[in-house]
Amino acid sequence: MNLFEAFWRSIFPEFCLACHATLLRGEELLCLDCKLELPHTDYTTDKENPLYLRFSPHIDIKNAFALWYFNKEGIVQTLLHNLKYHNHPEISHYAGISLGENLKKYDFKTQIDSVIPVPLHSARKRQRGYNQSAGFAQGIAEILEIQWSDDWVIRNKATQTQTKKNQEERKKNVDGIFLVKDFTHIKDKNVLVVDDVITTGATLLSFMNTLREAGAKNLFVACIAMAVQN
Ligand SMILES: [Zn+2]
Repeated sequence: MNLFEAFWRSIFPEFCLACHATLLRGEELLCLDCKLELPHTDYTTDKENPLYLRFSPHIDIKNAFALWYFNKEGIVQTLLHNLKYHNHPEISHYAGISLGENLKKYDFKTQIDSVIPVPLHSARKRQRGYNQSAGFAQGIAEILEIQWSDDWVIRNKATQTQTKKNQEERKKNVDGIFLVKDFTHIKDKNVLVVDDVITTGATLLSFMNTLREAGAKNLFVACIAMAVQN
C-alpha cells in the first residue's frame, strides 16, 4: 500500500466481507482471521469426491472441484450472500483465483481448454447486474491462461421453482433451456463448467448435456461451495 492508499483507507476504511471487521494494511476482501477459517475442500486431489459422485451416475465427467464447503451460518454463507444480493462480484473472482491456483498446482492446466459459467437468464442478469459465477470463471481462466466467456451459451428461459415438482417434471423443467451461440471454444474442447453453489445439480446437468451435444470432449465441473450432508 502506498502513502496515498493508506491515507485513502484512513478516510474510507474497507471492511471484511465475512465478519465486517476493519481491514488492515495488505488485507483484501477478507481479514486474515476469516481467510484462515475458510473451509477448503481437498477435492482437487480426491477424484471420487461427493461432487464427482453426484454427477458421475448421470453424465461422464472427468473431474469435479469445489473450493469451499458450504456450512450454514458460517463465513462461506455470508460471502455467498454478499456475492448474490449485495453487489460484491469481486468475491466470485477471488474464489476463481484461489481455485485456479489449486488446479494449476495439481497439473490441470494442460487438461482444460475453456471455462464457462452457467448462464443466467437475461432478465435475472439485468436485475442483479452481473452473473454471480462469471468472476469465478474469469479468475480460473486468468490463472490457467485459457479462454472463458458467458456469451457462448445463452439461457432461453428462467427455470421455475423446482420444489413442488416430481423428478420427471423437474427433468422437463430444465431440458432445452440452454442454447449454444458460439461453438469455437466448445466443440472438441475440454470444458470446465462453473457455478456458485450446487444444490440439486439439475440445472448444471442440463447445461453439461447441452455442451456435450455441442461436441465438447471432456467435461469438468467446479463450484465455489458445496453443501455436504453429515
Ligand atoms: Zn473477517
